[in-house]
Amino acid sequence: MSGPLKLDDVETSSSPVETADVDVDFIQGREVSLGGRRILRTLPRRARRTVGPWCFLDQMTPDNALAENPMAIGPHPHMGLQTVTWLTAGEVLHRDSLGVEQTISPGQLNLMSSGRGVAHAEQALPGSSHTEGVQLWVAQPEKTRFSEPAFEHHADLPSVDIDNATASVMVGAFAGAISSARRDTNHVGVQISARHGQTVLPLDPAYEHALLALDLPFRINGQATAPGTLAYLRPGHAEITLDCDEPLRILLIGGEPFDEPLLMWWNFVARTRDEVESAAADWNAHSDKFGSVATELERIEAPIPPSTRSVRPTQ
Ligand code: MN
Repeated sequence: MSGPLKLDDVETSSSPVETADVDVDFIQGREVSLGGRRILRTLPRRARRTVGPWCFLDQMTPDNALAENPMAIGPHPHMGLQTVTWLTAGEVLHRDSLGVEQTISPGQLNLMSSGRGVAHAEQALPGSSHTEGVQLWVAQPEKTRFSEPAFEHHADLPSVDIDNATASVMVGAFAGAISSARRDTNHVGVQISARHGQTVLPLDPAYEHALLALDLPFRINGQATAPGTLAYLRPGHAEITLDCDEPLRILLIGGEPFDEPLLMWWNFVARTRDEVESAAADWNAHSDKFGSVATELERIEAPIPPSTRSVRPTQ
């Protein structure tokens, strides 16, 4: 995928290109392996660390239907972030150190606010090895990042029809539909289920946004994009035009640009090296800070913290 077309790239024409004012950055994700499964990671990337407070985006691709190993991620900790689990196929069981045991199906939201610290495990339900979807993190702001951990499951989310699409609102407000999911910052997360044809989506101009194809390529203001590539829009856009040739799903995330400096390492979102180093030590020492998860899955130990400042989340 090459970058967006600039005005300089196109032949001078007497009729202006209607969409030339919308500058979309296409950011190529990278492939990572997680538990033997192929994952496409589109946040963070060097070219873009965050979209609003959204700081991490992993996509379990349809290729995973062929994976020998069903999703099974043993107990691991989080701190300073919300995990957002959104499936497009399969069923996953979430268990955490709060004692929550929750199955999630496509169209539902699992939202875990880790605050000062929590641990969880996730695995595909038996007979549900074909698991597809996304896992995202939302960085918690200074005012809540040391709060008590909490978990929410939303089985029914609001949806709204727009042109040839239906938008399911996971978090925040979109086109008049408002999710009741917890939100510590001003941001939005939506799944667009698009049918054949064109749809003009309203956007909050105060937000930056990014779109990700969940299953098939589509066009954003006439430019093609596909799974594995994040289409990023700076603040200032009041709408965007999508079109597709067959039914498909698109993830839309956005938010007010997050202005607190982030240090992301392993499963932690923090501000300083000391914070991540002590969190890793606490987890490996089985400290009460993160609690324990009732599961037969193997606990994942923290790697040795970085000797130099780095940004290297892995799960
Ligand atoms: Mn996790």
